[in-house]
Amino acid sequence: MKNSGSKVVIIGAGNVGSTFAFSLMKSGLAREIVLIDRDEKRAQGECMDLNHGAAFLPPVKIYPAGYEGCKGADVVVITAGSKQKPGESRLDLLQRNAGIVKEIVGSIVRHTKDAILLVVTNPVDIISYVTMKVSGFPNKKVIGSGTVLDTSRFRYLLSEHCRVDARNVHAYIIGEHGDTELPVWSNANIAGIKLSSYCPLCSRKGCSYKKDLHKIFEEVKNSAYRIIEFKGATYYAIALSLVKIVSAILRDENSVLPVSGYMENCYGFNDLYLSIPAIVSRNGIERQLEIELSKEEAAQLKASAQKLKSEIEKLKI
Ligand code: NAD
Repeated sequence: MKNSGSKVVIIGAGNVGSTFAFSLMKSGLAREIVLIDRDEKRAQGECMDLNHGAAFLPPVKIYPAGYEGCKGADVVVITAGSKQKPGESRLDLLQRNAGIVKEIVGSIVRHTKDAILLVVTNPVDIISYVTMKVSGFPNKKVIGSGTVLDTSRFRYLLSEHCRVDARNVHAYIIGEHGDTELPVWSNANIAGIKLSSYCPLCSRKGCSYKKDLHKIFEEVKNSAYRIIEFKGATYYAIALSLVKIVSAILRDENSVLPVSGYMENCYGFNDLYLSIPAIVSRNGIERQLEIELSKEEAAQLKASAQKLKSEIEKLKI
């Protein structure tokens, strides 16, 4: 297990990058955090502001840099690029962000061949694919944040509904981080009790398993649209999701997380990125876990994969 001396580079010092830097700084996981942004003053200002909290936290060196800052990095987190405007889908960002990320990845690989690349920029599944292709890195070392955030939203909303600690609600959102994602109701459980059995056992009156729980998924799927409409961007929960993923990598945790990973004969899908639960360690994605799905879920996952595949084909990489 290695975590002293860990170096994390964050490309993009905007809402997501700087909030992640703050959360990472508080976690004590990294000894060095580097911020890179084409807006150099922004990166410099964020580093100054973060460093002014040094007296309250475990020691960590935080500084702005050019791409030479990627040298010796354990993890490079890519958050740079355009974000959704109100009403825009993640896929609407594709052409803009694919170009930006190709250029960024070209610069990263001039300085490191060893880091794990963690992609956050949307549409994250396709941008992860682009990153893997352009970097030439082994696919297990290129990870998308995927549906770790959506799954966290799902567990929170279910926990509120069922009045159980979110950490004890076990349920996944899989597929695209976007409009075709799906909930795996068939294995969602509390204390090993499937939700379909838990709900009738719960003494709460007036709750309908089918109707109310479906509404919860709709809320998960539309969360980003609503938050962007209300405050322009989402960044706190994604920052915490990234700390969880980076912790799994730096601490070699073998944590099971629904990150976006390269599909190679996984549920019969090939040559695309999407999220299913995967074991994440120091090496990146150790193994993807093909959880059992109902017929309906399997069909939804296939539709999600087909959508992503058709978007990748349009890019002609
Ligand atoms: P933002 O506009 O606040 O920040 C983006 C930053 O990227 C800016 O500081 C900008 O200067 C920088 N940038 C742009 N082009 C660059 C380049 N070529 N080189 C270096 N830096 C560059 O946006 P944000 O709210 O931080 O969102 C960033 C990305 O993260 C968006 O694509 C957004 O959709 C995505 N996002 C993903 C998730 C997820 O779950 N995967 C969640 C939230 C946001």
